[in-house]
Amino acid sequence: MPSIVNGQAHGPAVTFESRLPLASESPNAQGHDLPSNARTLHQTAQLEGLLTIIRSKDTGRGDFVFTSNRIIRLLVEEGLNNLPVVPKQITTPLGDVFTGVGFQGKIAGVSIMRAGEAMEAGLRECARSVRLGKILIQRDEETATAKLYYAKLPEDIASRHCLLLDPMLATGGSVIKAIEVLLDHGVPEERIMFLNLIASPEGMKKVCTMFPKMTVITAKVDEGLNEKKYIIPGLGDFGDRYF
Ligand code: URA
Repeated sequence: MPSIVNGQAHGPAVTFESRLPLASESPNAQGHDLPSNARTLHQTAQLEGLLTIIRSKDTGRGDFVFTSNRIIRLLVEEGLNNLPVVPKQITTPLGDVFTGVGFQGKIAGVSIMRAGEAMEAGLRECARSVRLGKILIQRDEETATAKLYYAKLPEDIASRHCLLLDPMLATGGSVIKAIEVLLDHGVPEERIMFLNLIASPEGMKKVCTMFPKMTVITAKVDEGLNEKKYIIPGLGDFGDRYF
């Protein structure tokens, strides 16, 4: 029975050995040779717990949506951490002048339909004035290539930092096509940041090698792809489970 001391339950001590590795020790950070323009979220026990929930086949839609949204929020915050800032002076209520920083430039979110749309709300919660665009890409079964069906982007997208949203990076075909669309619309490669929940090592390598100036932020790099191009262990079809 855990004892109660000062209002806190004291159960079995959490030993050093029982905690998850820090990011610097984490197999996910070190087991894969991540390209220099890719990074994972800090590999904490909490993140691993959230990923475990969404990976489970026994997790129903409500918990899947709630838990995915929490990871999406972490990804969005990390994406925003990487945007440039400039010095900014303000006056505090006590009349002191304080020099801090302010965000530089405007941002746009572009979701790759349909699963990427699940990440739009999390972005809006953190960046109220964000403009949103959408891209629909599907695999052409005859040519086995990603084909663009629809793109609707903010008219001033070329002048914005662009957060590209897709929860699953499998072969990389869709995101590569989406990046090409953004480049065609005048977005400089270095202003594109791809936010993603789970990536395959091969998809990650392909995208990062093709576009070395963009940044990819993912929660987890998984083991690989199966013969149907699903990520393993992955979580199944993200769009089918979320919507
Ligand atoms: N898209 C998904 O939803 N899941 C995968 O495993 C790969 C692509």
